[in-house]
Amino acid sequence: MTTTRFAPSPTGYIHIGNLRTALFNYLIARAAGGEFILRIDDTDPERSKQEYVDAIQEDLTWLGLTWDRMERQSDRIERYEEAAQKLRDDGRFYECFETPGELDLKRKKQLNMGKPPVYDRSSLNLSEAEKDKLRAERGGYWRFKLNQERINWKDGILGDLSIDAASVSDPVLIRGDGQFLYTLASVCDDIDFGVTDVVRGSDHVTNTATQIQIIEALGGKVPNFAHHSLLTGPQGEALSKRLGTLALRDMRAAGISPMAVLSLMARLGSSDPVELRSEMDSLIAGFDISKFGSAPTKFDIEDLKPMTAKLLADQPFEKVADHIAALGVPSEIASDFWGATRENIQTMDDLGPWWELFKNGCEPVIDPEDADFIKEAMSLLPDGPHTQETWGEWTKAVKEATGRKGRGLFMPLRKALTGMDHGPDMKSVLPLLQVIRAKQ
Ligand code: GLU
Repeated sequence: MTTTRFAPSPTGYIHIGNLRTALFNYLIARAAGGEFILRIDDTDPERSKQEYVDAIQEDLTWLGLTWDRMERQSDRIERYEEAAQKLRDDGRFYECFETPGELDLKRKKQLNMGKPPVYDRSSLNLSEAEKDKLRAERGGYWRFKLNQERINWKDGILGDLSIDAASVSDPVLIRGDGQFLYTLASVCDDIDFGVTDVVRGSDHVTNTATQIQIIEALGGKVPNFAHHSLLTGPQGEALSKRLGTLALRDMRAAGISPMAVLSLMARLGSSDPVELRSEMDSLIAGFDISKFGSAPTKFDIEDLKPMTAKLLADQPFEKVADHIAALGVPSEIASDFWGATRENIQTMDDLGPWWELFKNGCEPVIDPEDADFIKEAMSLLPDGPHTQETWGEWTKAVKEATGRKGRGLFMPLRKALTGMDHGPDMKSVLPLLQVIRAKQ
């Protein structure tokens, strides 16, 4: 069975870059009829917050990315202890005592000598007596002893990859305060939950090399890895600078449609064109991870607005009826209101101002040269209620009376009635207008 997971750390709100990872893993699991796990990487008790765990679930639910199972790393500490003990017993774990300052000095020396700043394993040479002494002074932490050989894997996006383990420092898996670090926890979880496919950002490529060795050391089966490129802003600038504005919850608050976000992200950075989908099933069917490239992917939130507008315009009335009722639109005109406005909104939030206009009317906009014309036209406007036919009949009569036609006829009327030079078809607007101030 195909099993994937999305593994956010609950240290903040998830953003568009996280969503890309979540979505790819979700689509792979669903396409294969497999399992999608939401794994909360909360081994860091200081930075992990329940409010973010809640927010992550809320955001994924908003997008419709439902998970089959949720796990929290903080519930699994015993399992990590067990794995650590196995690594100790097998001679793959060793205790170190260098302080961050000492390590930094070593790195600087190596760099000065033109060597790669890889940990020199000097702790391996400590005698038991030396270790006892150091442990009493400052406590130790644990590194995984990499086999110094090449680590190869076929990446689902990047193709054949090969990293020389000798160029990587032995990773620290347990901190001095006993906290398990993400790498060990993640590997144990992937093994225990039967994760078959891991998609994550390309910032994890080096982790993957070391994780492959740890998985093997723990007797697990190495999953298929795929590393997607990182997102940048529209000009190629690092997205992190703007992450504040790209949190999923901010997009939700801005009225962006979930299917617009998902449609864009399921294709952006791949050789397939972006296609707007209104159903998750067609996104699942059309997803192919092998079509993605390694180049950084430019993301522009502005692209989501016309996509949202298009999705909204296609919504049947029943889908938006509750939202429209909540605005206070009377039920007998609610469907006509949607018919008139659906193509004139970018997000659902834009409906409010339209209803405001229809309900309360507007301050008429009348150019001086149109003042007499408007006065005459208004005298010809029959009293309401107006129907879809009223506009045609009325403008015909106005044309006959004033000799105006085309834009010179219609535009001043639109501006007098709506205060704007654009908007829905006036034929639909007129019956919706509850107040016509230009007539008063
Ligand atoms: N918690 C890790 C992160 O947010 C998960 C990485 C992974 O998918 O293994 O980067």
